[in-house]
Amino acid sequence: MKGVKMEVKVAKKKRGARESGSARSRKYVYKFGAGKAEGKANMKDLLGGKGAGLAEMTNLGIPVPAGFTISTEVCTYYYDNKKTYPKTLRQGVEKSLRFVEKVMKAQFGDGEKPLLVSVRSGARVSMPGMMDTVLNLGLNDTTVRGVIKQTGNERFAYDAYRRFVQMYGDVVLGLKPKGKDEHDPFEVIMDKVKKEKGVKQDVELTAGDLKKLVSLFKKEIKLKTGRDFPEDPMHQLWGAIGAVFGSWNNERAIAYRKINGIPGNWGTAVNVQSMVFGNMGDTSGTGVAFTRDPATGEKKFYGEYLLNAQGEDVVAGIRTPQPISKLEKDMKGPYSDLLKIYKRLEKHYKDMQDMEFTIQKGKLWMLQTRTGKRTGMAAIRIAVDMVKEKLISEEEALSRIEPEQLNQFLRPIFDHKQKEDAVKEGRLLAKGLNAGPGAACGKVVFNAQDAEEWAKRGENVILTRIETSPEDIKGMDAAVGILTQRGGMTSHAALVARQMGKVCVAGCGSLDIDYPGRKMTVRDKEIKEGDYLSIDGTTGEVIEGKVNTKPSEVIQVLIDKKLDAGRSETYQLFDRLMKWADKIRTLGIRTNADQPDQSATAVAFGAEGIGLCRTEHMFFGGRKIDAMREMILAEDTEGRKKALAKLLPIQKKDFAGIFRVMKGKPVTIRTLDPPLHEFLPHESGDIEKLAKVMEVSKEKLDAKIASLKEANPMLGHRGCRLGIVYPEITEMQTRAIIEAACEVKKEGIEVRPEIMIPLVAHRNELKSQEKIVRETADNIISKYGVRVNYLVGTMIELPRAALTADQIAENAEFFSFGTNDLTQTTFGLSRDDAGNFLADYYDRNILADDPFQTIDLDGVGALVKMGVEKGRSTKRNLKVGICGEHGGDPRTIGFCHSVGLDYVSCSPFRVPIARLAAAQVFIKEKKNRMKGKSRRKKR
Ligand code: PEP
Ligand code: MG
Repeated sequence: MKGVKMEVKVAKKKRGARESGSARSRKYVYKFGAGKAEGKANMKDLLGGKGAGLAEMTNLGIPVPAGFTISTEVCTYYYDNKKTYPKTLRQGVEKSLRFVEKVMKAQFGDGEKPLLVSVRSGARVSMPGMMDTVLNLGLNDTTVRGVIKQTGNERFAYDAYRRFVQMYGDVVLGLKPKGKDEHDPFEVIMDKVKKEKGVKQDVELTAGDLKKLVSLFKKEIKLKTGRDFPEDPMHQLWGAIGAVFGSWNNERAIAYRKINGIPGNWGTAVNVQSMVFGNMGDTSGTGVAFTRDPATGEKKFYGEYLLNAQGEDVVAGIRTPQPISKLEKDMKGPYSDLLKIYKRLEKHYKDMQDMEFTIQKGKLWMLQTRTGKRTGMAAIRIAVDMVKEKLISEEEALSRIEPEQLNQFLRPIFDHKQKEDAVKEGRLLAKGLNAGPGAACGKVVFNAQDAEEWAKRGENVILTRIETSPEDIKGMDAAVGILTQRGGMTSHAALVARQMGKVCVAGCGSLDIDYPGRKMTVRDKEIKEGDYLSIDGTTGEVIEGKVNTKPSEVIQVLIDKKLDAGRSETYQLFDRLMKWADKIRTLGIRTNADQPDQSATAVAFGAEGIGLCRTEHMFFGGRKIDAMREMILAEDTEGRKKALAKLLPIQKKDFAGIFRVMKGKPVTIRTLDPPLHEFLPHESGDIEKLAKVMEVSKEKLDAKIASLKEANPMLGHRGCRLGIVYPEITEMQTRAIIEAACEVKKEGIEVRPEIMIPLVAHRNELKSQEKIVRETADNIISKYGVRVNYLVGTMIELPRAALTADQIAENAEFFSFGTNDLTQTTFGLSRDDAGNFLADYYDRNILADDPFQTIDLDGVGALVKMGVEKGRSTKRNLKVGICGEHGGDPRTIGFCHSVGLDYVSCSPFRVPIARLAAAQVFIKEKKNRMKGKSRRKKR
């Protein structure tokens, strides 16, 4: 080792990579081993999930090979300082390495008893397979002899050595296939050696063959990189540490973070840990296990293992592993140790754990424990079961479910009859593992790039691979379903699909996939690229051709009402969770719905009112649009009134339908909002037809349409500006709403109409519209002789409205923030066109999120906050909600709660998500309050 220059670059103060005093004194390396660790479970942000788990297990006295964790702060430093390390890091690493040597009674680089280590990534949240790992590090021509001496197994030693050179060559030195059709350079060499020997399997290679492979691999490295393979273990170690930090920003990790909303500045930790070997013969093995079933949530020990295999083999899906229950027969002692440990870990963490273990010559070692990823279905079942088992509280159960996971309860399943027929017809091709629940039907593609491209042109695709790798991440995201030939429930495909909420069937061994031929054979049938395939991720079945999907059990119980609630366990879990959420949340949940059936769906999902009924959506289709067009194109007030008279009964009927469904729940109805030309025909044939209906010439109609054209319609004659120029529109709409309300009230059904004026910028606009609404409404109510209480309010969707909300509130009984337009006008960013270029903003880190999906807290959020405060400074009890698309976004819902909104309004299918998100923000706030209290007490 001596005299060899290490590749660790340390930041030099002169170059501007200045290290503060605190950076110099900061602790960057945390040791674990021999029953004691410097870290613990709650240090995930600093040590990453893996590092924190290893530390905690060590402290619990669970057998963990000794090692150390380099903190995520080093990763941040590395990127902030031109890929250099803090000055004190080298000393920290070397000191920790001495500690590991002492615990493991082995020495790094030693020819007698060498210490070998693994170098692995580990971020705060797991990013399966996205970053790099190097195993067996420390091997060279000297230490390999030490391994032979220690194990008495030359073949094993050279196998470990060739794996190391291969992995190091790939991960650290960059020798990998460049394109999708290129082969791995090391695999090419290996295949050549196997061919020369006339053998097929790796296991048939002798120690001599493997030794030859080591030298051939090293030659290839020299040829491709111009550099020798590093023999010095310290040099190897720093190379691997750099590669792992570097892999935080590789293309697939960046793509994964984007898909999963993981911030780029979190960084990864690096874990250096002494190696234990699962490939030392038949008393050794390696595996992955979950304390409960990650797909269904069922309470059973679940996992898989491979005998005589090294760590990554299980996850990589290269061999299909055995179910964990079989381990009892293979290795009774380690199995019973594993059972004890899993029970202890679950009780300790009070959550489902995902563990990695290795058995080296009959001794069990734990290599990882972390909170296990699970499907939405499993997340809810585990949370509900753990409340029953008194492990956690209802509040804790609610906090553990990601709101978006509820989507999986609303996902389609196959039409049972069609599927049964398909099976009878012999179209059931194969059965794999049920890795990601739900049903998907689409065209087969055999690589991720095609999946992306086909999906872009609107096709539903099933990405079918022998096994997936992290490079496939974008294609997996684009596909409706994922199917693999190899790999278990913990393979890359299975893990990633579950996390994405994708339908996935994994390890379907009877498929014979031919990539170059773009086809696969299964049961003598040939399935070509573009053929339809249907996969059931709940049962693992793969069916030839199309099988229609149908609504989930929750939908069948709640919406279609075709399934009895008592017969659906899935529905009962969903319902219980929703009830817990409702018990706790203080934020109201309404829906954006324009039709009675949509309103009924939303109510079934738990909506407590309608927050936005866009009346213009009621004008499309059949006779309705004709009358609307007639109104728009009328020459004068008389003509307009004539057309409006035709619209009145149509609108009234729709409103009455909604009031009946809502049964006394508040219904906010907005007066006409979009620019009028949006309703007009633009095709010559359509214009001609309309001219005939209206009994005017086509030329005249053409001229009228041209006169309505605006250069900037979203800032043009729309919103309340329509009702101001054409008061008869507001009058007709008020009439339709209030007459419908009075008539429904007379039927004995309670009604609560709220009339909302859009796009108000100035108090006088609202004042003038309010006057029309009140005069019309009061007149009608007194004519009908019933008691109908109605409110008049406004949308706050322009910056001026937020800035003058105190003035506007004088004429408003409620506000509803239209954050779609408020975002558009605050950013000066067209909501219709921004999608074309916003992707560049994310790529360049100018914006982290789409401001039309998640509220921009600093800008639009500040205006909302100001609007609420100013509005309530005039009217203390002013009712305030939000009805922009942001109302269904969990992060925005948190914000809405914090600024004191009364409710959020979102599309019907997002109502359950909003209910849960609202409960979660309440729980979070309560926790923070309690923390604050206990901090004050301590002081
Ligand atoms: C809004 O602007 O947020 C809103 C709800 O109105 P619309 O999307 O109809 O413009
Ligand atoms: Mg709007």
